[in-house]
Amino acid sequence: MTDTPVYGRRRALPTTQAAEPPFGGREPAVIEGRVVSTPTPPPASGGWDEAERVAQASGGDVYLKITENKQIIKILAEGPFDAYNSHWIDEIEEGSKSVRCWGANTDCPLCAYGDKAKRYSACFSVVSLEDPEHPSLRVWEAGIKILRQLKEIAFDPKRGPLNRDDIYFTIRKEVKKKAVEYTLERVKDRDLEEEYGVTPMDAETLRKFAGEMHTEPIKALYNEAAMEEVVQILINAS
Ligand SMILES: [Zn+2]
Repeated sequence: MTDTPVYGRRRALPTTQAAEPPFGGREPAVIEGRVVSTPTPPPASGGWDEAERVAQASGGDVYLKITENKQIIKILAEGPFDAYNSHWIDEIEEGSKSVRCWGANTDCPLCAYGDKAKRYSACFSVVSLEDPEHPSLRVWEAGIKILRQLKEIAFDPKRGPLNRDDIYFTIRKEVKKKAVEYTLERVKDRDLEEEYGVTPMDAETLRKFAGEMHTEPIKALYNEAAMEEVVQILINAS
């Protein structure tokens, strides 16, 4: 335990050399759908204000927005920089309904209350080419199915690593009756132009994005006071 907020074990993933295995050698935990580390909750001074401040500081454009139209993306690192489960609290009226779980084997107040952290997210740094003239840095929160597809590619010597210079991906979603389904495709740079009319990014642009990419967790943990407020919301609603 420390006095400073630690949102998860720091895991700098190599972007140019493959000295470390993809996914930081930690993929089993990621694949199991468990959180990959046991983060320490932030100090009690944080709470809602802190959570809100972090959310606002990150702006509305941090995350990749996946639509029903195919979007071309470039993955910047070999693996995800963060992974976690979150509780979905529909009863929260102001602010995010998604609350990051403190993690398995912690005393997460929401888990203790009996709420299950059902939503799994693995965060990747990507460049979105939705507007090919203006590529933009984004954080992509992938679910477990997509993560498994990415892992297969990452560990395949012929198709990986994910951030290979000549490899792009397309992602789109389809809203079905009961669920949202995502479709991922791997695209070689030489096919980008032909199939999508998009020019691959040059080496300098890629380097620039790789230098700016997110490597630290973005979704903060609520501290004890904020968690207790959420639990209280659940108690009041029951
Ligand atoms: Zn929890």
